[in-house]
Amino acid sequence: MIKKGIDKVLSQKKGVFFDMDGVLYDSMGAHADAWSRAFHHFGIYFPPQMVYLNEGRTAQSTINLVFQQNEDRLATDFEIEQIYSKKTEIIAGYPDAAPFEGAMMLMADLKKQGKAIWVVTGSSQDKYLKALLLDFKDFVSADRIISGKNVVHGKPHPEPYLTALHKSGFKSHEVIVIENAPLGVESAKAAGIFTVAINTGILDDRILLESGADMLFPDWNDLLK
Ligand code: CA
Repeated sequence: MIKKGIDKVLSQKKGVFFDMDGVLYDSMGAHADAWSRAFHHFGIYFPPQMVYLNEGRTAQSTINLVFQQNEDRLATDFEIEQIYSKKTEIIAGYPDAAPFEGAMMLMADLKKQGKAIWVVTGSSQDKYLKALLLDFKDFVSADRIISGKNVVHGKPHPEPYLTALHKSGFKSHEVIVIENAPLGVESAKAAGIFTVAINTGILDDRILLESGADMLFPDWNDLLK
């Protein structure tokens, strides 16, 4: 089922660390739109392209980055709270993100082969983590999720993936990472892990490759065919 070299890579590995948004869920369009609209509400320009470029950062880090670029200062706690609340309010109006069928198909294949499945996400919202356990219930268990709650430093820092290595007991060469975002790729590569990029968003392939991705697929169909 899986071709184009990834099957060969996987045959030598014991497991896969999956990123969540943009890899397991077709959720990034909504997040990009919600962030962009939330900033716009406060008179700040932050186009969806910038959301994709910064995907993986914590909300606080994203807001601070925008303030540094636009106002040459960090955001206050009040500003962070206001903008993040607005983003949360906007995204609540979107339908729930759909899981990528391709991710399920790969997980089914991995399970059959006895490979371990972990999820490493910057998200720390219970709503999304609960949905993950429901939607991927045949493959993902709570003790194999590293969320934003488990780390001090989010992506692009290697801490999320280093934490997954530590908790799983795998060495970096025994697993691969599947990521869709440049900062996620950077985080995984900094943890020394072979990283497959799947470009489900709007960024140029080149950006993911320049972040250090070892392999790149335009979408799930391409990875699985
Ligand atoms: Ca992602």
